[in-house]
Amino acid sequence: MLYLDNAATTPLRTQVLESMLPYLTENFYNPSSVYTPARKIRAAIDDSRQNIASVINAAPDEIFFTSGGTESDNWAIKGTLEASKRGRHIITTETEHHGILYVCKHMEKQGCEVTYLPVDGEGFVKPSDLEATIRPETSLVSIMLANNEVGTIQPIAALSEITNRHGIPFHTDAVQAAGHIPIDVEKLGVQMLSLSAHKFGGPKGIGALYVKKDTPIFSLFQGGAQERNRRAGTENAAGIVGMGTALSLSAKELPCELPRVSALRDTLIREISEKIPHSILNGTTGENRLPGNVNFSFRFIEGESLLLHLDMQGCCASTGSACSSGALEPSHVLMALGLGHELANGALRFSFGTENTSADIKKLMEILCPAVDKLRILSPLYDDFIKGVN
Ligand code: PLP
Repeated sequence: MLYLDNAATTPLRTQVLESMLPYLTENFYNPSSVYTPARKIRAAIDDSRQNIASVINAAPDEIFFTSGGTESDNWAIKGTLEASKRGRHIITTETEHHGILYVCKHMEKQGCEVTYLPVDGEGFVKPSDLEATIRPETSLVSIMLANNEVGTIQPIAALSEITNRHGIPFHTDAVQAAGHIPIDVEKLGVQMLSLSAHKFGGPKGIGALYVKKDTPIFSLFQGGAQERNRRAGTENAAGIVGMGTALSLSAKELPCELPRVSALRDTLIREISEKIPHSILNGTTGENRLPGNVNFSFRFIEGESLLLHLDMQGCCASTGSACSSGALEPSHVLMALGLGHELANGALRFSFGTENTSADIKKLMEILCPAVDKLRILSPLYDDFIKGVN
């Protein structure tokens, strides 16, 4: 099996599993209980909080555990809007994950106004566009750190400099970035940041929201007093411990992994560009691209068909298209970058992780090149192109 879909999820790392196992077996106590064995679980949770905080340069009491990226994103938006005294206007971008976009759509139905900032052809937001859309009633700006489809890394520090001048809280979805590029909440200048463990070798169903001290935010859930009264519900101790182990491991390995994985990315980009004609790289060609992200449109064919061909040969990758009512909807991210339907539907994302090596690129190219050729032979669009119709 050739797994090239690490942006969807990553395999649980062995050390992470080992750190979690005691909390799924003998250390089963409720961390809110007062007896000694339960207090040990509380201590393990707090150790993990400390580890995560130190990786992103936050204080431990600024880390709140959640069920993952989606909950953290929902909380940041709904909790901030409810607590805001400024008004009911949100600024976000057209290329956010659905964990943000669909919450914004929901908030519009609740009477909020939302501005969706456009991006340029490489996926970048212009700081001047943000500045121009700020109003007295703007209560939140949410712009992702790195895009899940094309890997574009936004200039968050330049954007938050603007919101900080206006006293508007800034949330960033760092779900794709954490564990893969360095993150420092002080340098980013943000008040909230979402994390999800399964994107960096941790378990699924656990994440965190960083909330800078004194940032006004209401709770999503009412119930117990867990997470300093901010997030009710008995803690997922095993998940929390696993998340701490996974993020610490990734941070320790980052100085080696970042250049290694970036080199894999650059090699694959070169190989596809050289060996597959009419293939177009989506996203930025520059530095500000996630180390593991490669996204190409293959003209004249559908990404979905290519994906199935790769799957039949044991290769896992991803398209940005969503299947709704039986028809393929092109990715909202690629459309926002200015691609037409044909190119957006012809896109495929390959995402590398710690387990991939250069041998995987060779294997992929051996499968990908004939698959593209085969699909093009069957493509009426390609036929027209060859005959010079278009
Ligand atoms: N935000 C981004 C950018 C993502 O890529 C994802 C998952 O793909 C999420 C949020 C949602 O995270 P989770 O799967 O932990 O709910």
